[in-house]
Amino acid sequence: MAKPKVAFYWCASCGGCEETVVDLNEDLLKVADAVDIVFWPVALDFKRKDVEALGDGEIAVSFINGAIRTEEQEEMVKLLRTKSGLVVAFGSCAHLGGIPGLGNFWTRDTIFQRVYQEVPTVENPEGTLPQEKIAVDVGELTLPQFYDTVKTLDQSIPVDYYLPGCPPPPDLIMNAVNAILKGELPEKGAVLAPDKALCDTCPRAEKKPEKISIKEIKRPHEIELDPEKCFLEQGIICLGPVTRSGCGERCIKANMPCRGCFGPVDGVVDQGAKGLSMIASILGVEGEEKMAEEEVKKLVNGLEDPAGTFYRFSLPASLLRRRRIE
Ligand code: SF4
Ligand code: SF4
Repeated sequence: MAKPKVAFYWCASCGGCEETVVDLNEDLLKVADAVDIVFWPVALDFKRKDVEALGDGEIAVSFINGAIRTEEQEEMVKLLRTKSGLVVAFGSCAHLGGIPGLGNFWTRDTIFQRVYQEVPTVENPEGTLPQEKIAVDVGELTLPQFYDTVKTLDQSIPVDYYLPGCPPPPDLIMNAVNAILKGELPEKGAVLAPDKALCDTCPRAEKKPEKISIKEIKRPHEIELDPEKCFLEQGIICLGPVTRSGCGERCIKANMPCRGCFGPVDGVVDQGAKGLSMIASILGVEGEEKMAEEEVKKLVNGLEDPAGTFYRFSLPASLLRRRRIE
């Protein structure tokens, strides 16, 4: 019997999602044995024309990581959508926009100016910027359009399932692969991870006091972090209450707060807004006593980079999607 065809593709991402496939270790051999990989640019020498030559829907599943930043990425994911029965948004960037999505705090022009003209290590006396078309002796060279706004995968094409995480952990990947092979998938649109908050599985939750009040916001490098205590109790912003579980509490176990890479649980539209409201509800509240407004202001000012903290992985998927720049 013919094995199901599988494709992997990489859009705007750091490459960590590709690494995590290798992190499957010996399970990778089982996957390679059970499926026929027909496209995986980072590892195998297939070309776009090989995908174009396949019939519509012939690929059983395409795992696509990375956000959509360029015209080429958008073209490729549209092609893969046509050729695939299922499309899985693989990792935070495809799911929510991820770290590349923080580019939505800027514009294409301000990013180009910074990267190609202002960075101290760049030598570019003529201030040349990338051009989409340029005439050279042998003809015209082209570059794909660099979009002004980073998109999540499902803002470009319909997505069947989401594998969350920066990157998704190997056990969740294997569960997803096995579910696909056995045809035991949940309803379309599902996130293939538990639908409960990270706090529910956090090893520090047991000792977490019922009521927490933050009287001073700290950053992780500013204090000696207690490896047992809830981060919020220590005045450190932790997005565990508004983030989906399933990562194995990776950051918490490394004594770092959760930054939200798994995205929200089902039903939450805007993870950042939910996080802000969670923090607002415990800021400066001490028992029944309320802090003076001035004190609260001082406290809030101690929160460095609130937009980057609460929307670190989810800005393109948020209600606002990007910063509005005149
Ligand atoms: S807020 Fe963070 S540290 Fe505290 S219980 Fe939740 S996940 Fe754990
Ligand atoms: S603890 Fe939070 S940021 Fe860290 S891997 Fe898990 S979900 Fe992602």
